[in-house]
Amino acid sequence: MEYRILGKTALRVSRLCFGTLTMGPLQANLSVGEGARLIELALDKGVNFIDTAELYGTYSHIRQAIRHRNRKPVLASKSYAHTRAQMKLSLQRALDGMDLPVVDIFLLHEQESYYTLKGHREALDYLLEAKQDGLVRAVGFSCHTVEALRAALSMPEIDVVHPLVNIAGVGIRDGTVTEMLSVIASLSQTGVGIFAMKPLGGGHLIAKNEESLRFVQQQPYLDSIAAGMVTAEEIDFNCAIFSGQSVPVGLAETLRQTKRRLQVQQWCSGCGTCVGYCPQDALKVRGGRAYVEEKECVLCGYCGAHCPDFCLKIY
Ligand code: SF4
Ligand code: SF4
Repeated sequence: MEYRILGKTALRVSRLCFGTLTMGPLQANLSVGEGARLIELALDKGVNFIDTAELYGTYSHIRQAIRHRNRKPVLASKSYAHTRAQMKLSLQRALDGMDLPVVDIFLLHEQESYYTLKGHREALDYLLEAKQDGLVRAVGFSCHTVEALRAALSMPEIDVVHPLVNIAGVGIRDGTVTEMLSVIASLSQTGVGIFAMKPLGGGHLIAKNEESLRFVQQQPYLDSIAAGMVTAEEIDFNCAIFSGQSVPVGLAETLRQTKRRLQVQQWCSGCGTCVGYCPQDALKVRGGRAYVEEKECVLCGYCGAHCPDFCLKIY
């Protein structure tokens, strides 16, 4: 496994970060035992960086893995809190939920622009105080937009950013992957630590799994990349790529053949934007939410890039 120092934080992280969104109740809904076993397997293979969020509901899975292995990886969590009081509560939930004295990285969740960052200023100020008090080691934000990332260029208090990056730019809401990588390069040169998310575009790039993971692994300014993993085979595959090894024969193809379907996330607003982008006419809006006609859907992944709220994912 390759390791990097995450910007100026002094945190040494594996290039592959275990993203726990996909194992939690919003997606695969693995039990605490099942999720912990997968995290332990990844830890045994050299992964030492785990990403979670208050929203993901995976603090218990992580806590159990840490207890079983008696080894604490680098941990990142995040919260949508925008007031000081809410963020204080969020941080306390993370500390209690994972049974930790300090959270390595705590982020504002999913910032869109300078203006949303301004709206979350109180919460960020609380995190900066928590850093002074030794409850957090590094602060920052996650984002799906180039604009939010650009705002970090004039925010020296930001230690770490967690932007969306993949080979096709799936899910980047206001630009291309080239634009995202350009801002990432500038931030990296100022010492900001960068760990990317969604290297497979929320599942939409599964048909190009090896090419997509090698693309992010080869980006020089990405200190680490968070990938969701819900099977031992996915862990083997991802660890091989991020260790610079060739993938065991047949494994990439096995993962590509895994039965998948398009799922509409519960936060879909029913705006209908995605409908016109489906070449198969497989998407409709019914009862205030998008609905997919599975027999028409060819899992091409085109629709996901056009949902402003990243509601369409292939599992
Ligand atoms: S899936 Fe996204 S684009 Fe489609 S209706 Fe829901 S929110 Fe709108
Ligand atoms: S994955 Fe492709 S075929 Fe399926 S709903 Fe989306 S755009 Fe349509």
